[in-house]
Amino acid sequence: MPPPPPRSAIRRKLLRWYRKTKRDLPWRRTGDAYAIWVSETMLQQTQVSTVIPYFENFLTAFPTVDALARAPLAKVLRLWSGLGYYRRAENLRSAARQIMRAHGGRVPSDFDRLRELPGVGDYTAGAIASIAFGRRYPAIDGNARRVLSRLLGIMEERSLRAAAADLVPRSRPGDFNQAIMELGATVCTPKHQRCADCAVNSLCASRASPHAATLRRSRAPAKPTSVVWPLAIVRRDGKILLRRRSAGGLLAGLWELPGGEITARASAAKLLRQELAGLDLPLIRHQKLGEIRHAITHRRIRSPIYVFDLARKIQMELPKSCWRWIAPARLHRLAASSMTAKALALLSTYEKTAD
Ligand code: SF4
Repeated sequence: MPPPPPRSAIRRKLLRWYRKTKRDLPWRRTGDAYAIWVSETMLQQTQVSTVIPYFENFLTAFPTVDALARAPLAKVLRLWSGLGYYRRAENLRSAARQIMRAHGGRVPSDFDRLRELPGVGDYTAGAIASIAFGRRYPAIDGNARRVLSRLLGIMEERSLRAAAADLVPRSRPGDFNQAIMELGATVCTPKHQRCADCAVNSLCASRASPHAATLRRSRAPAKPTSVVWPLAIVRRDGKILLRRRSAGGLLAGLWELPGGEITARASAAKLLRQELAGLDLPLIRHQKLGEIRHAITHRRIRSPIYVFDLARKIQMELPKSCWRWIAPARLHRLAASSMTAKALALLSTYEKTAD
């Protein structure tokens, strides 16, 4: 078995490469632990280019832990709308409240205290501790796991974690962790390894062995499920009907068009009439507008959109505060699901062509 590559050479080469080539990203221009924590949370499951405008808007609206802790959840969700995985936003706000209560409003620098915060796992705690506070912890997400596994030639999770912890330098641990992430995002990607351009190619176990270059992930990614999710646009006097999802579960707390998942063979129109039955609305007809496609949390969604019109202009009480009428142009004021926004964009296109 060949000797392991010298740790010091890997660190030196990676840090030098990172200093020269790192992308200029907004969260890399700050040492503020709160901003770094927000960025790391947003970057989970989401691409850098998508995150940038959300990060900037979020920090403008909630520039401090205190501001986030005091913000209504609806406002936090509204600023998160479109980023997906909304539990992250709820956890951020809960954690901000915990930091106000237990840490005087300062993001803790200690790994174990960070791990106690809602939504902060080993990766995020390691990233915050190393990047914001210069603590010597690894930050191992799927990206880093792949790069380190290839680089060190280690496939077993526990051995990989031990080797990764040993590899993080005392000096500039945050830059080192970000260098690993950067290498995984730009050079040593899941499908392509650009070994010829790689700063550590002379030290890499996979570079030396073509078989090692295809190390498998320790955990296979969950396969997306195909789902049919019809949505109803109920129109009345230029407004449409929305309901708010319950606090727990998928898309918790977001406003959406009535609808839901069905099996491929069930009738979409029937399901929508059932969903609306409790409101006792005088619906006269419905028509299919078209379909949209969407993906959330391991679901690949096909969503047929139906428009329902009311039989007459009447005053009516909606039964619960989780239902409301809203003008489509005011949708941006609510934390609404992306599917709802897409469906209303389809309605807008339809209405323009029908005029
Ligand atoms: Fe990845 Fe190739 Fe670089 Fe090794 S040499 S870390 S396999 S890109």
